[in-house]
Amino acid sequence: MSDRYCVFGHPIGHSRSPRIHALFAEQCGQAMTYEAIEAPREDFAGAWHAFVAAGGLGANVTVPFKEEAYRVADVLSQRARRAGAVNTLVHGRDGRTYADTTDGVGLVRDLEAHGVTLDDARVLVLGAGGAVRGVLDPLLAAGPRSLHIANRTAEKAVSLAADFQQQGYVTGGGYDALEGPFEVVINGTSASLGGELPPLPDTLLAADGVAYDMMYAADPTVFLQWASARGARTIDGLGMLVEQAAESFFLWRHVRPDTGPVRDTLRHEL
Ligand code: NDP
Repeated sequence: MSDRYCVFGHPIGHSRSPRIHALFAEQCGQAMTYEAIEAPREDFAGAWHAFVAAGGLGANVTVPFKEEAYRVADVLSQRARRAGAVNTLVHGRDGRTYADTTDGVGLVRDLEAHGVTLDDARVLVLGAGGAVRGVLDPLLAAGPRSLHIANRTAEKAVSLAADFQQQGYVTGGGYDALEGPFEVVINGTSASLGGELPPLPDTLLAADGVAYDMMYAADPTVFLQWASARGARTIDGLGMLVEQAAESFFLWRHVRPDTGPVRDTLRHEL
């Protein structure tokens, strides 16, 4: 019997994770299955324990269960503890549930794959929700000169910056006081989902700046269109999705898939 993995979400029908992990498994010669499970909103813990009882070895977790999955965990990685949410669960040989968050590593690896250096860069992150909280630790570990968080609700950005404060170079605020230039601007808001754009000043991006949208779609998001019109290099979040999946796959199988071909396949299928 193959080893069983899954992704939990609600809804989950749109998830590309089963496709990504099927491609990884094929490429790495791993005998495993990976299915999408729509867990009941009110009982994520029950869904996870039932999956394990049926032989499940690990899972990805997406909206709206990332915080619930954090609470289900017996052992949290350090970055998961800081993020307050997890996207990867591992059923350990000792019967305990281990949890990690791989979104931030996925983002940083995708930036690296595109040749973007964060080291000594002035980085701006837009948004202060769960996705942003989950990527801050790996972003800071990449050594930016400064990191500013801007959010529609300014207090949330200020409080998030305080949680991740390191030597005074993580700051937060609203959009009205926002001043560039930044070498790297990462959109972690859900504004793109509704075709909206936060109010951004024209001076935001440095001359050779990079604009990254954590969202992805067949066509460039409004944010990437805005940045492209101002001369920035633009990257969408499809690579982040593939890289976070690769890190989860590694946690389960101890094998690192080659992400480039999988990203290309997914891009063609968008
Ligand atoms: P949350 O609901 O936790 O947070 C949403 C954030 O977006 C808040 O900061 C909110 O501001 C802001 N926002 C929403 N609408 C607008 C708007 N019209 N104008 C300005 N700001 C707005 O969502 P998540 O953090 O979970 O997700 C954010 C995005 O990240 C999603 O698009 C998701 O698809 C993407 N994502 C991508 C991943 C990938 O692998 N590529 C992985 C994880 C997430 P406020 O606080 O003021 O409400």
